[in-house]
Amino acid sequence: MALLQIAEPGLSAAPHQHRLAVGIDLGTTNSLIATVKSGSAVCIADQQERVLLPSVVRYCEKGRIETGYDALRAQKIDPLNTISSAKRLIGRKLEDIPAAQLPYRFGDNGRIIELQTRQGAKTPIEVSAEILRTLKERAEHALGGDLVGAVITVPAYFDDAQRQATKDAARLAGLNVLRLLNEPTAAAIAYGLDNASEGTFVVYDLGGGTFDVSVLQLSKGLFEVKATGGNSALGGDDFDHRLFCHLLEQNQLSQLNEQDSQLLLSLARAAKESLTTDNSSTIQTTLSDGREISYTVTRQEFQNLTQHLVAKTIEPVKQALKDAGVGKADIKGVIMVGGATRMPQVQQAVATFFGQTPLNNLNPDQVVALGAAMQANVLAGNKNDDEWLLLDVTPLSLGLETYGGLVEKIIPRNSTLPTARAQEFTTFKDGQTAMTIHVVQGERELVADCRSLAKFTLRGIPPMVAGAARILVTFQVDADGLLSVSAREQSTGVQAQIEVKPSYGLDDDTITRMLKESMSNASDDMAARARAEATVEAEGLIAAVKTALELDSDLLTESELQNIQAAIFAVEQTVQTGMAADEIRQAVATLGTATDDFAGKRMNRNIQRALTGQKIEEI
Ligand code: ADP
Ligand code: MG
Repeated sequence: MALLQIAEPGLSAAPHQHRLAVGIDLGTTNSLIATVKSGSAVCIADQQERVLLPSVVRYCEKGRIETGYDALRAQKIDPLNTISSAKRLIGRKLEDIPAAQLPYRFGDNGRIIELQTRQGAKTPIEVSAEILRTLKERAEHALGGDLVGAVITVPAYFDDAQRQATKDAARLAGLNVLRLLNEPTAAAIAYGLDNASEGTFVVYDLGGGTFDVSVLQLSKGLFEVKATGGNSALGGDDFDHRLFCHLLEQNQLSQLNEQDSQLLLSLARAAKESLTTDNSSTIQTTLSDGREISYTVTRQEFQNLTQHLVAKTIEPVKQALKDAGVGKADIKGVIMVGGATRMPQVQQAVATFFGQTPLNNLNPDQVVALGAAMQANVLAGNKNDDEWLLLDVTPLSLGLETYGGLVEKIIPRNSTLPTARAQEFTTFKDGQTAMTIHVVQGERELVADCRSLAKFTLRGIPPMVAGAARILVTFQVDADGLLSVSAREQSTGVQAQIEVKPSYGLDDDTITRMLKESMSNASDDMAARARAEATVEAEGLIAAVKTALELDSDLLTESELQNIQAAIFAVEQTVQTGMAADEIRQAVATLGTATDDFAGKRMNRNIQRALTGQKIEEI
């Protein structure tokens, strides 16, 4: 049945209403906002025609707040009240970050990072919200209407807490978040849709503060992130810092005040950027004590100074290829993202590693925002286009603790998102009516070596013998990478669930360390796992034998009883003194033999009880 559109006389039937949706690249250094206009994505500029908004917020006198270039300029004169790189702090705890290296006064509320400013304590969420609010106002002004929603990008390695905090910042800024999107994935959208490519691609994103690498599979409009890696503490800032340190050494400068440090650092950054196109650059300034600085750095000198930083990006690239199960030769193209990839030595290193010229025909600063805008346009319903789908992956395995301190992995690392998996578990003890679900993240076999994400208890399990209850535990990770876990007892339908929002984040160094440990400890882990399994088996048998003795020990002679008790003691000893799995198993086998006769007698008695009045011979 067709629907007829009826228009008021004099008014034409409006075509499909275009809903204003934006993509936001909330960067460590720079942020951008983009939208799709007449079918193509464009970045929205401010009134001075600038598209980049430095991710800097200054808390001024009388409650005034400056963002962007104004705040950036003030950083030199008002460093304590001017917050940059809030993204490095968002969703983190103080103990997770090198606070001593940062020029702020940190508050210590133990739960969330706070920065003391003249307008009081501000969290990185509030700081980010100021950036987002500025961008939102810019877009509403330029587009002439309210936004229906935004896609906001985050580094691929952001964990639950960091993603959640980013969403909170958006909510504070009055934005409706349609979706969080991994930055490299957004870049691939920008390139993939333009070029309609197929094959395996690598996204190499070197921004101001983070390095992300992703291996993507593109086919028939389907984007799949096969693996991600990176280093959230490596970016263009480190190149500035290296040059800054070199300046200090060469000019025998020490004990600079905050203001001079900030000044030299920003000059170092400008020199770095100019060396992308020029062969040399001169840094010239007067310090606050009147000292004159003039230093010329050549491109070659700068490249030598920063060679190790460039090399440091290649390791995560190798790891991501390995995780994706592909070789360099399988890579059809390498997408360059982030302002720092403009440096010729970075382009060169990537070209050398992959043996091909990287793709760089889109502006590396803008590509993430453009891709996010395209995604926002689809999600807002402006494009009737469900042929392309976005799939991200989980960086670490998710699982739960089972008896004996072992981890049962439910969602393996690098699983495509969104994903849901369920597995059945059972009770270990007779009459057990509650079960604690302990959700952990990591690759190791033992709970103690993984990160604990959350714990909750399923109560109201009907009392049954051990092993009879069937508890279905479901893990679900949504498209934003947020995990929820539920548990349900199948016979009664009793249910419990939790949304996992860890209170602090895992950075990618931690992830890398956890992965490394899982590999180097694989054989230890196997032994520990075998031991834990043997222990569970031993404890199960001991419990069963003890119950049997309580019920039916009258079937045994005194010496048979002693024999069994000695065997129980022997098993308990192997477990308690930490013997290896083999020895525990041996003792368990001995206990098994010692109870064979007893088990036979009990079986007879039970059969007799069941068939009261009948003799076994009669059946
Ligand atoms: P983020 O994603 O972290 O916000 P961007 O992608 O905006 O960062 O990249 C910012 C970094 O790019 C800064 O370190 C900046 O100095 C660097 N950058 C920008 N332009 C150039 C250039 N022409 N040459 C070298 N580095 C550049
Ligand atoms: Mg970026």
